Amino acid sequence: MTDARRRVPRTDMLLRDPRLAAAERTLGPTLIRRAVTEAQERVRAGELPPERAAEAAVAALPRSATTLRPVVNATGVLVHTNLGRAPLSPAAVEALLVASGTTDIEFDLTSTAARRARRGRGALAALAEAVPRAEAVHVVNNNAAALALVATALAGGREIVVSRGELVEIGDGFRLPELLESTGARLVEVGTTNRTHLADYARAIGPATGCVLKIHPSNFTTTGFVSSVPIAQLAGLDVPLIHDIGSGLLSPHPALPAEPDASTSLADGADLVTASGDKLLGGPQAGLLLGRRDLVERLRTHPLARALRVDKLTLAALEATLLGPQPPTRQALLTPTAALATRAATLVDRLTAGGVDADAHASEARIGGGGAPEVVLTSAAVALPAALAAPLRAGRPAVVGRLHGDRLLLDLRTVPEGEDTTLLAAILAAATPPAATEPTP
Ligand SMILES: *Cc1c(COP(=O)(O)O)cnc(C)c1O
Repeated sequence: MTDARRRVPRTDMLLRDPRLAAAERTLGPTLIRRAVTEAQERVRAGELPPERAAEAAVAALPRSATTLRPVVNATGVLVHTNLGRAPLSPAAVEALLVASGTTDIEFDLTSTAARRARRGRGALAALAEAVPRAEAVHVVNNNAAALALVATALAGGREIVVSRGELVEIGDGFRLPELLESTGARLVEVGTTNRTHLADYARAIGPATGCVLKIHPSNFTTTGFVSSVPIAQLAGLDVPLIHDIGSGLLSPHPALPAEPDASTSLADGADLVTASGDKLLGGPQAGLLLGRRDLVERLRTHPLARALRVDKLTLAALEATLLGPQPPTRQALLTPTAALATRAATLVDRLTAGGVDADAHASEARIGGGGAPEVVLTSAAVALPAALAAPLRAGRPAVVGRLHGDRLLLDLRTVPEGEDTTLLAAILAAATPPAATEPTP
């Protein structure tokens, strides 16, 4: 045994360090032991003197028990799937905390006999209230789950009629037609890539038809010699008409005139609308189902519904998103560009005073995976040297922007105003490499 190995401090001795003992109360034993083991390995490898093992373990402790790191989304992409889509409103965050303990999710506290109550009734009522056109509503894990449930319950072993122009790949190789077929439903494709007519649908409908599905192409547009059939016309066909609107707008939005919304779609004659909760609605990941009572009831009572049901955290955050203040994604849609330019100028002043090479830059923000691929939102950015991209990504919070030539643009449309101070501190920290500090003995 080498000298270093013999001198590796014992685990129980290291765990007696008061800093590690205190951290164990918040982080739990697994993460503390991991940090201790790593420090011991470093001593064993001769990288660390044994007397510094406890200190190294303390320094290596994670700040929280999740490996997820907070990120400032300065990409200018409002709904960024890789960054977790919609950030929740403060009211939704508060609701998560309330629901995180034991709660009356399925329990009637008003009845003297402890009785069972409808699961998530508050969230369902808020959703129904937001879309009065919907006779009934149901919530599942995400929009993909909503579509899987529709296909299974309404078209299992039967046919779904869908336009060839709407066979969409959403992202990460996820293709809606493959999802639909995985349920055992058969797709009957009608029309061509660029043009589909009402007669194409009418010809395809027969005794085996389970439903007609219209899918919003949320991440591409087609222009030129194109045509598709609007919901109002499809509503004349005598089969259930399902509309996947994708983005989750519940009513028309002034900034997104071409984006479909649930209220209009139902008014135009859709029998059922499916949508995501974490795109333009600005809430938690969820799949929203709204429409005809008999169809919603068939979905809700189908055995598969149990496998797709949402947890109490989702229901709490969804209700607060619907009833509470505008979530950040919705605010980002409406913030005047002049206000963003003012914030960019203020940040640039502070950064310049701090010796950072920064200037204000006009920018263009996008909706992203959430829909409206053609929409450009004018915006304002702080431009920094591209070399800061890596240190900003490595910071806490991490800051993710967009490279533009030799500059890194931090687009402020996707940064809530309240995060400017955090952003400023993160940039200053990234631009000022930490001085090589002597470890305290
Ligand atoms: C995003 C999207 C989906 C998938 O929704 P998830 O909530 O991510 O499962 C399905 N259809 C359309 C049109 C979409 O835009």
